[in-house]
Amino acid sequence: MTHEQLRTSIDAWALGALPEAEARQVEAHLAECPECQADAQTAGAVAVGLAGSAPAQAPSPSVRATLMSAVAVRTRPSLAARTGWLVAAASLVLSGYLTWDGLRLRDQVATLSTRLAEAQALNAAAETRVTTLQHAAERGASAMAVLTAPDLAQIDLAGQPEAPDARARAFWSRERGMVFSASKLPPPPPGKTYQVWVVTADPVPISAGLIEPDSQGLVDVVFATPPDIPQPKAVAVTLEPAGGVPAPTGAKYLVGLV
Ligand SMILES: [Zn+2]
Repeated sequence: MTHEQLRTSIDAWALGALPEAEARQVEAHLAECPECQADAQTAGAVAVGLAGSAPAQAPSPSVRATLMSAVAVRTRPSLAARTGWLVAAASLVLSGYLTWDGLRLRDQVATLSTRLAEAQALNAAAETRVTTLQHAAERGASAMAVLTAPDLAQIDLAGQPEAPDARARAFWSRERGMVFSASKLPPPPPGKTYQVWVVTADPVPISAGLIEPDSQGLVDVVFATPPDIPQPKAVAVTLEPAGGVPAPTGAKYLVGLV
């Protein structure tokens, strides 16, 4: 095959469009003809440029290396233009896959984010439950300490005219405090609270603490009362301004003599 005949085939060769036998003839001539080598380089660059002009997403380095070695096995190293074209075509296929894979990954990330938020909410709820149980356990331990005190005294309180059905019972230990429970205590009016008093020989009763009946009118609390108070004569509950007062001012709701 002559130089003139071959020149017309170089473009087709660069695109990898020549039959195998003809391609070998072109390559044999290229090896010894600098002029055709220059043409082949130009044609190769155009072929690669054509393939590369399509938008292609760059594959990851590892994927690209795998592809390159696969392409290298199927093509001869001397066919730089053909190899470049094949890699560009493979990149197109890959970019489609990567786009689809990227969307799938985004969905997975969104799903995982939702599950994480759900897990965090569950965790917060569990922590709240643990805190509630801890408080209940601490209250139970305090109540147990009072109820097993050697100096335990029981005081029953009766409802007064303001709340004739109300009842209460106080277990008091000078050393360990007071367990106080009540029932049928009406809900306090807005801005008011119930306050429990220990009445002693002193002119001013000692405040044991504030109580708030639940929706059923029940109260179940443990107070830490001062350990050095004089011998009590009575326990009483009055209605006072919210936040409590240093000395009783309101109506008596419950009274029990020691
Ligand atoms: Zn030539």
